[in-house]
Amino acid sequence: MEKKTATGLTNKSIYDPVSVLPKVGPKRVEALNGLGIETVLDLLTHYPFRYEDLGVKKIEEIEDKEKVVLSGTVLSDPVINHFAPRKNRLSFRIVSDNVVVPVTFFNQPYLKEKVQAGEETSIFGKWDGIRKSLNGIRIIGYSTQDYESVYHTSKHIKQGTIVRLIKEALKEYADLIPEYVPSYLKKRYQLVSHKEAVRMIHFPETEEESRQAEREIIFEELFLYQLKIQWLRKKNRKPGEGILVDYDVNRLRTFLSGLPFELTGAQKRVINEICRDLKQPIQMHRLLQGDVGSGKTIVAAAAIVAAWTAGWQSALMAPTEILAEQHMESLSELFSDMDLRVALLTGSTKTAERRDILAGLQSGEIDAIIGTHALIQDDVEFHRLGLVITDEQHRFGVNQRKILREKGATPDVLFMTATPIPRTLAISAFGEMDVSTLDEMPAGRKPVKTYWVRHKHAERIEKFARDHVREGSQVYIISPLIEESETLDLKTATETYAHYQHLFEPEYKVGLLHGKMSAQEKEDIMHAFKQNEIQILVSTTVIEVGVNVPNASLMVVYDADRFGLAQLHQLRGRVGRGHKESYCVLIADPKGETGAQRMKLMTQINDGFLLSEKDLEMRGPGDVFGNKQSGIPEFKRADLVEDFNALEAARSEAQQLLSQDEFLTHPQFEELRHYLGISRKKRNVFD
Ligand code: ADP
Ligand code: MG
Repeated sequence: MEKKTATGLTNKSIYDPVSVLPKVGPKRVEALNGLGIETVLDLLTHYPFRYEDLGVKKIEEIEDKEKVVLSGTVLSDPVINHFAPRKNRLSFRIVSDNVVVPVTFFNQPYLKEKVQAGEETSIFGKWDGIRKSLNGIRIIGYSTQDYESVYHTSKHIKQGTIVRLIKEALKEYADLIPEYVPSYLKKRYQLVSHKEAVRMIHFPETEEESRQAEREIIFEELFLYQLKIQWLRKKNRKPGEGILVDYDVNRLRTFLSGLPFELTGAQKRVINEICRDLKQPIQMHRLLQGDVGSGKTIVAAAAIVAAWTAGWQSALMAPTEILAEQHMESLSELFSDMDLRVALLTGSTKTAERRDILAGLQSGEIDAIIGTHALIQDDVEFHRLGLVITDEQHRFGVNQRKILREKGATPDVLFMTATPIPRTLAISAFGEMDVSTLDEMPAGRKPVKTYWVRHKHAERIEKFARDHVREGSQVYIISPLIEESETLDLKTATETYAHYQHLFEPEYKVGLLHGKMSAQEKEDIMHAFKQNEIQILVSTTVIEVGVNVPNASLMVVYDADRFGLAQLHQLRGRVGRGHKESYCVLIADPKGETGAQRMKLMTQINDGFLLSEKDLEMRGPGDVFGNKQSGIPEFKRADLVEDFNALEAARSEAQQLLSQDEFLTHPQFEELRHYLGISRKKRNVFD
């Protein structure tokens, strides 16, 4: 166990474990850790998520079931009444405003010690307007504040304990709270000191104080984040740490001019951006984002060809076998006139073939390998790996990059995604990457006609589906859940499947695809659909990514209001890939006004970027992208959309600061250098 140093003479640090605080034993430590609180600093930055208005009211003004604070004198010592096993009631009376009020607490017998006849107290509770009594929630003791901070808690630790610990920590550690934002910025943006801000956010005395605290804390969070990602980017882009792919521009041009179509302006621009990266001895970390159908594959192909002309191997990773196979098909076709040797390596590759492929990669006989991401993790060794491309990979990079480094290679890395991230978020989400955007569709693309109908018209849609299959087309039917759920009255995939089987079989074949199937089962179903052995595919969202079946021309989504706009757009992108006129029908009875609005947006907007901007406006980044998954950071206080102005300011200030040599030497930036881990005194602050 750590020694208690909170008041001792030894070196106190804001990074001391919470166990240094009084009355924090192993159990509390565990409870605090459960909330993500390990150090004193963590505790101090466990900010309240709202304030409870304690506005003490007159009893006659309180409404039934209203939560209030009543202050008064305790009339009688509390009595505990055990009315059932493990159930008890603590009751006493207080005099407040000359009215006697009975107070009851359930199952909190230990509060008995906190209440004594004759003492003043304040109790937070729910008013019972009929009995004229208070159902106690918490004893606040004697309070002078008008409102009280409310914290995220857990089963194992209570509000009161957190408040007490924070007070304790502030008393002992306030002076050690680091001031990261340099003083010139504090002045420029009129920010209070961080130490002040921390105190004020926990225990504001006025509303203005809580506002000031918020401003400072938000700016600090965004500034530190920007500084960190920009620093990483700078570090990643150190010359000499990557490889130089000295490609042959003429052979690349020959390849591009041999394509059956003219590249879009956006494709040309993006290929140039990538080629510029390849030619530098810097490791490329580039994100290629482009709407469904914008033609990312050809861009990947161009990069592979460029690497090949310089004698480097490439690897293209896809999240599923079916996608890997699709890429194999299109790339083999694109490379058919060239001596560029491509191979496919997935979990299904037979042992003997696999052995040959591994040998080919090691000897350099194979120029480009396509597969699932087991590609770079297994015993796969390359002769000269220069370029890694990952397709539709939502977990951007960090792990893969680590694996590659551990293999001792620093190939250029290109990430491709069809989930458009609005410009407003891109700067924060991908701050350490360069971003290329395909914002132009190939000419002659017919937009998918999108309709929204209510469930009561579902039968019409079934007829519509029949028309499609009768004409030889295929149909996707999307249903959000696989298992029956009583609370959410959703059509389940299995139910829907049975329904469509009943409607269409044996004349046509209906297939079912869902997330609980094994990878192999899924692949088999998808193959059957690709081969048109299945005409109607009922599926959960597992088909969402990248699947290309040009003969499918109708996408029906049940309970469409359950999906995010970005996701609906992805689903819609599964059709409209061939020559046929294609349709997307959203079946939904959305509850609120926004729900209806979202459905309407889908019918009006075909542009994925525009949709994601709208979605973001309506739902916020966490809901749209799922922070963890997308790599979009989570902040304690800042909100990437709401605080966009602060974000922009933080970004340009961080950029400016990093461009100054002084940053690495001047004492006033010592604290920030610690934060980035570039100080002599090393502190593991992040990661
Ligand atoms: P995505 O960005 O969704 O991966 P793909 O690369 O699969 O899109 O391209 C979709 C389709 O568009 C493919 O059939 C591809 O051959 C075609 N395509 C790509 N670029 C062009 C272009 N410049 N002109 C016409 N068709 C193109
Ligand atoms: Mg694609």
